Amino acid sequence: MKTISRRNILIASMAGLASGSAWLSACSRTDTGGVATAPRSTPRARIDGFRGRIIEKGDAAYESWRQGMVWQMRKPDRFPEMILRPVDTGDVAAAVRFACGAGMKVSMRSGGHNIWGASLRDEGMLIDLANFKQVDVQPDAGTARIGPSMWARDIMAALEKHDQAFPVAHCATVPLGGYALGGGLGLNGDEWGGMACNNILGGTVVTAEGEVLRVGEKSHPDLLWAMRGGGGALPGVVTELHLKTYRRPANVFSATYVFPLALLDIALDLLDEIVALSPANTELLALMLHNPQAPPDAPPDMRKAIAVRAQIYADSLDGAHSTLDAIAAIPAADQSVVSMPAVAESFEKLFSDSMDWRRGFGFGRFAVENAWTNDRAEAVRGIAAEFMKAPAGHSHVVVQPKLAPAIDGNGAFSAAGNTYIGIYGVWNDGDTDDANVAWLNRMCSSLDKHAVGHYINEINAANDPDRVKACYSTENWKRLRDIRNHWDPENLFHDFPGVS
Ligand SMILES: Cc1cc2nc3c(=O)[nH]c(=O)nc-3n(C[C@H](O)[C@H](O)[C@H](O)COP(=O)(O)OP(=O)(O)OC[C@H]3O[C@@H](n4cnc5c(N)ncnc54)[C@H](O)[C@@H]3O)c2cc1C
Repeated sequence: MKTISRRNILIASMAGLASGSAWLSACSRTDTGGVATAPRSTPRARIDGFRGRIIEKGDAAYESWRQGMVWQMRKPDRFPEMILRPVDTGDVAAAVRFACGAGMKVSMRSGGHNIWGASLRDEGMLIDLANFKQVDVQPDAGTARIGPSMWARDIMAALEKHDQAFPVAHCATVPLGGYALGGGLGLNGDEWGGMACNNILGGTVVTAEGEVLRVGEKSHPDLLWAMRGGGGALPGVVTELHLKTYRRPANVFSATYVFPLALLDIALDLLDEIVALSPANTELLALMLHNPQAPPDAPPDMRKAIAVRAQIYADSLDGAHSTLDAIAAIPAADQSVVSMPAVAESFEKLFSDSMDWRRGFGFGRFAVENAWTNDRAEAVRGIAAEFMKAPAGHSHVVVQPKLAPAIDGNGAFSAAGNTYIGIYGVWNDGDTDDANVAWLNRMCSSLDKHAVGHYINEINAANDPDRVKACYSTENWKRLRDIRNHWDPENLFHDFPGVS
């Protein structure tokens, strides 16, 4: 139980531009009646100028490609007509124009980490942006242009050369695209903008007509607004993100205190006190997890544990000491059964820990749900009893208090409270899928009583359109719909699963 960051456990559980401005499209939709059946003829010959890979239903490689589109082992039974892997933005535009002309729906994928496989849809074309890993850093301006499939770890390594950083996801392999476009709870998130999407300054977007747009504050600000949290309903394919970056702290230090779940109230008191004293460069979480050291006949609340952890981003131990010492002095900390009051971490160590499959979690089957709440303690107490009945030992809950507001009011991201609670079902045996998903749903029933909203990147959107809406304020949901209708009136791009 030593190395516990938000995503360590989750993972352990288991071109160039066509032009700088508008690339005007020859494609205009004539089939105003909506989307028709996909063509039967081989598209390869008909996608003019397309240089990337095309895999179609019926190709020998189709099924392995299809399955490879979703990161986890539980693959949805959804089958796009074709999967395209473009090499640059011009390729994406060619693909979109082809789909537009053929009346095919389009979905896009950056890294397939959406646990529910949101990018894998039944109709049309899936555009896989795996080749879009370009990085261009402007350290003096504190900005960078980064491709959507670049992994968290690789972004930080590229930025490090310029002494810069970005609130990337906690797990090394999570790419930028879906993560940042949907919100992005990232490393040192409270000091660095609240949510990753609040740091999006613009990007390159291929529209439903196959136009390539440079989006920013002054050009197509409505699309910029949608890119800040509206991921999943964007009326365009983002092939590059322009981001605000931050000076990179030299070090990361952590403090972790572990309690049996029987001492939940004490752990929650400790968390409250840490929230009250921590500066914004502290990232906090409490992790409810299985206690691998508990004897099998121990009572349920001794077989589960809760770890309270603070991660402080600072240049030196001196800079972190005052917070670490203040945490250690909280009386509740004395009641932990394991304490690690000051551990020197590093970004690289956090990422390598996140990929350490040797801890026995395997790369298994996942299901995730969540809620934002302003009622942290009651929400956690409400799910504790059901958590103890988790059918799989790797399933866990992340409780993440925010020290800075998640919503900055300049984007679609708009439904958050002061604490994020994510429930992660993690198991390996496909025969237990139903039992594990049923458990997740029971956990949600308790959690939802305290919810003020949900996070679009970690819900089963296909299951419940109302839950999708609850990821946004009423006003922002309407504006997102208006922007979508304006840029994609024919619904070429798939909407959120469950919405259309
Ligand atoms: C191991 C793991 C760790 C995680 N850690 C974190 C974390 O620390 N913090 C956090 O907030 N979340 C985390 N997540 C959740 C993560 O934010 C989502 O899974 C997110 O969808 C991943 O991005 P992706 O690019 O892989 O999405 P994909 O699955 O590729 O795409 C999901 C959807 O996003 C949209 N999309 C993706 N790329 C583009 C694009 N280029 N242009 C337009 N639309 C696009 C599409 O609608 C697509 O259907 C984690 C997930 C996993 C599996």
